[in-house]
Amino acid sequence: MEAPVTAQLMDGNAVAAKIRAQVAAGVEARAAAGKMRPGLAAVLVGEDPASQVYVRNKRKACGQAGIESFGYELPKTATQAEVETLVAQLNADPKVHGILVQLPLPDGLNEERVLNTVSLEKDVDGFHPVNIGRLSMKGREPLFIPCTPAGCMVLLEEAGAQFKGANAVVLGRSNIVGLPAAMLLLHRDCTLTVCHSRTKDLPAVCRSADILIAAVGRAEMVKRDWVKPGAYVVDVGINRVEDKSKKSGYRLVGDVAFDEVKEVAGAITPVPGGVGPMTIAMLLKNTLRGAELADART
Ligand code: NAP
Repeated sequence: MEAPVTAQLMDGNAVAAKIRAQVAAGVEARAAAGKMRPGLAAVLVGEDPASQVYVRNKRKACGQAGIESFGYELPKTATQAEVETLVAQLNADPKVHGILVQLPLPDGLNEERVLNTVSLEKDVDGFHPVNIGRLSMKGREPLFIPCTPAGCMVLLEEAGAQFKGANAVVLGRSNIVGLPAAMLLLHRDCTLTVCHSRTKDLPAVCRSADILIAAVGRAEMVKRDWVKPGAYVVDVGINRVEDKSKKSGYRLVGDVAFDEVKEVAGAITPVPGGVGPMTIAMLLKNTLRGAELADART
């Protein structure tokens, strides 16, 4: 067995702080030039506690970067038409440069139709099918790249990962993380494998990875012997596991068994403090971009 190594920690808090400071400086430069502050509208339907926390954190981060944020809360009984009407109003509102519809939507609402309603120019989550379509095609540019996968790429870049010709494995193929992460790696000339619940011999496929992005939502699924020595491991997962020593009764872990994998990986993200803070930082960056796109239209 190879001697244990200690992986380089890809510190999402530190990298995100840097990006947030850059965004704040960009926002202040706009204000100094007499331009409108960027504005983010956050739409929350229903009372899912995790979604409430996510929206609260995103709005707080907006405030810290000098970005205006507008909260819209609809009851879980809201109809499809009510949600779409709200989104249409936000599309037309010049103070709003980014629209965030917090997912998942309550049962009974058609997520695809709601996301289709978001104006391309305000799609700061990058979930509009045209943005995802452009991301998936060679030589096309999406207006916005989904925040979580974009954050994964920044962490890999900052850690010095070499993309060209690297074997990249993405665990998970969701529209919001796995699929766009895979497209971003492909654009950087990685040789790509995308795994999912039907993949055979997952450990062997993962072991081929120079770059591994795990986004499955299964606590500590990726074990030490799934990881190639020296690989870059990005853990997107956020999973609650019971922990009686905590006041809340649980703690958060990723999809990667951090303590054992850090002894073989070359670089690894912690959970929490890895991808999570990057997601918010990239949302702020996209909102600033939304304001710049609006300038260019006027
Ligand atoms: P999702 O929509 O549930 O997708 C999970 C993916 O993993 C699916 O493609 C699924 O395969 C695959 N999968 C599930 N179990 C598997 C298994 N045993 N073996 C192999 N593949 C398996 O989840 P998501 O929205 O992408 O989120 C993934 C994780 O990231 C969650 O823990 C979520 O909380 C977290 N997350 C974190 C952030 C952040 O900011 N850090 C942002 C978004 C999500 P099939 O397609 O075959 O079903």
